[in-house]
Amino acid sequence: MKTVSYSQFSIYMQCPKKWKLDYLDNLRTFDQNIHTTFGSAFHTTIQNYLNVMYTESVKKADEIDLNGYLKESIMSEYRDALSKNNNKHYSTAAELVEFYEDGAAILDYFKKNRSAYFSSKQHTLLGIEIPLSIPLREGIKFTGFIDIVIRDERDGRIKVYDFKTSTAGWNKYQKADKSKTAQMILYKEFYAKQFNVDVETIDIEYIIVRRKINVDYEFVPKRIQTFIPANGKVSRNKILKLFNAFLDSCFTEDGNYKAEGTYPAVLSSGCKYCVYATEEALCPKKERIKSNED
Ligand code: SF4
Repeated sequence: MKTVSYSQFSIYMQCPKKWKLDYLDNLRTFDQNIHTTFGSAFHTTIQNYLNVMYTESVKKADEIDLNGYLKESIMSEYRDALSKNNNKHYSTAAELVEFYEDGAAILDYFKKNRSAYFSSKQHTLLGIEIPLSIPLREGIKFTGFIDIVIRDERDGRIKVYDFKTSTAGWNKYQKADKSKTAQMILYKEFYAKQFNVDVETIDIEYIIVRRKINVDYEFVPKRIQTFIPANGKVSRNKILKLFNAFLDSCFTEDGNYKAEGTYPAVLSSGCKYCVYATEEALCPKKERIKSNED
């Protein structure tokens, strides 16, 4: 049984060639960097706070030494990553401290403004890191984890949240980028299916935390940005159509990767972070075509 994650779909949407090299040719490598380390540690820290807040009390959650928890989580993530990375360092002590201090500033803002984002009254925590496992087609299933799901007991509506750590927040281009926003739309569809809930009773929200704030701006942005992508029936159908086109392009009818598929190399801003950017034999420069984003 092949599994399909959101990140596979996202990679395909950005560049089909990269998907082919990563999955069909199985060349993907363990990609660890300070951003993923910080992202995982921050998720663990905020999820721990919310778990205590909803299952015990706000007072108990506020008593947690969040900065200490974050520091230990960053170090633990870094140690784990090092062992998977043949003990090759990918960050420095100064950079780890900088990311920790950024995280502490976000946590400080979050604690002071928590009620603007998460209400403790008449809301029930349905789960943290909820696993999704949805059969899609013969031999293929979708898998993923939802950061946090909460039910509003006043009207029964369910809210699915995803935390994103970001340097400066999402601008209008990132908000319009389907390879980013499709995640929550698919999670909404699949959560409804897996838990047999009416999809129309589910809301979604990205909570984007900013590591850096430019205090020179006339209007200083908040440490936490929220974003709700269009997720009505029409938007959902558009994303499902793209998702099904991805499955048609990359998988055979019996659920294997399609070796004879067409996988164009699409130039985009993502090329500068791509491990194949300097691999002329794998992704020849002359075969890279311009993306629609240009
Ligand atoms: S370098 Fe750019 S075009 Fe080539 S595989 Fe990576 S993302 Fe695609």
